Amino acid sequence: MSKLQEMYAEMGIERQIYEYGESVLNRLVPRFREIDEIAEYNQMKVIKAMQESKVSEACLLGTTGYGYNDLGRDTLEEVYAKVFHTEDALVRPQITCGTHALALALMSNLRPGDELLSPVGKPYDTLEEVIGIRPSRGSLAEYGITYSQVDLLPDGGFDYENIRKSINGRTRLVTIQRSKGYQTRPTLSVKRIGELIAFIKTIKPDVICMVDNCYGEFVEEIEPSDVGADMIVGSLIKNPGGGLAPIGGYIAGKKECVENAAFRLTSPGLGKEVGASLGVLKDFYQGLFLAPTVTAAALKGAVFAANLYEPFGFGVVPNSEESRHDIIQAITFGTPEGVIAFCQGIQAAASVDSHVTPEPWDMPGYDAQVIMAAGAFVSGSSIELSADGPIKPPYAVYFQGGLTWQHAKFGILKTVQAMKNAGLIDINSLKL
Ligand SMILES: *Cc1c(COP(=O)(O)O)cnc(C)c1O
Repeated sequence: MSKLQEMYAEMGIERQIYEYGESVLNRLVPRFREIDEIAEYNQMKVIKAMQESKVSEACLLGTTGYGYNDLGRDTLEEVYAKVFHTEDALVRPQITCGTHALALALMSNLRPGDELLSPVGKPYDTLEEVIGIRPSRGSLAEYGITYSQVDLLPDGGFDYENIRKSINGRTRLVTIQRSKGYQTRPTLSVKRIGELIAFIKTIKPDVICMVDNCYGEFVEEIEPSDVGADMIVGSLIKNPGGGLAPIGGYIAGKKECVENAAFRLTSPGLGKEVGASLGVLKDFYQGLFLAPTVTAAALKGAVFAANLYEPFGFGVVPNSEESRHDIIQAITFGTPEGVIAFCQGIQAAASVDSHVTPEPWDMPGYDAQVIMAAGAFVSGSSIELSADGPIKPPYAVYFQGGLTWQHAKFGILKTVQAMKNAGLIDINSLKL
């Protein structure tokens, strides 16, 4: 046994599972090279933006109180705008999470009487309450903002005819979710998002096209803002925070859209001028710097997981060969036991909290019990190795993250081990 194999054995991975993993990895060499090339491109993109914005040592310090003239904060927003090729950006620790960033972008750019359209089906679960699809205090619906939705066609395509019909005089903002979220539909490529936006703009040129970019940043060489999105929105405890940002969200886009969001986040009249950055700036900068390679590590983990699980006959979205547009891997087990064993395997691979056992619980914002596995340095960070799944049919688990490829690999092997220990898979049945 090699030193490495011995180490895996000590960490609870049986030889048969290790060898199964290696046999799968051998086939993935060209895919991993492609992922590394995209990371290299995006790494340069981030460095270029930082150089052009003259990021200096002073930018890494923070302010307190009102945060007037916060050089680091203002420069970071310039860096984000350059990375995403937008006019402006709002990047703040006061944006508490991705849902908050999205709610902020919507509430600040919509007015009573306006209509919001989702042409890509139901949005992410937590947005149902923001919009008022599930009645909720403070929702857009309470402020007289209506919502309409056009589902994707059964083959995953855009329903252009019905999208055309649903755009009316009141349609002010179109929200497009890049990632699949807790659904098993395919994630949208940036190219397809661009095609959808172009179509929508031919019908109504002044409509605001917003993209929920959560989990998509740095997966491709281009972002939705490169193909016509007026606003892209995401969370800093996902890809762009690089695992270091301890909190935060961003909105990048047209100056007017970003300013609207700033006046809503702080106050009319104050906008971007206030909002102390406290001590988080160094982590925001360093996290963004690391984000392209961290995203690549997570992507390799997702591709590896799809290739390991597909041979057992579990549904994997994306499948083992499909191109990737976000870092999420969905695996459908069809039983609660599969979801639970997978999550317990991820937890057992953590560097923090590996000794705890995750259980399903009633999480705020979700309509079914959810099980979540994570042992994160930043609580709840889903750019770190993590898995979650609602305990409802089709009993799919959503796996994402991994600050390093090595950790992602170990975590996935642990899930295979947990599935085997629970009697849910049989490696001997595979034709290797
Ligand atoms: C994570 C996520 C959100 C919400 O982000 P939170 O930080 O969990 O509030 C919204 N949309 C998508 C597609 C996501 O993946």
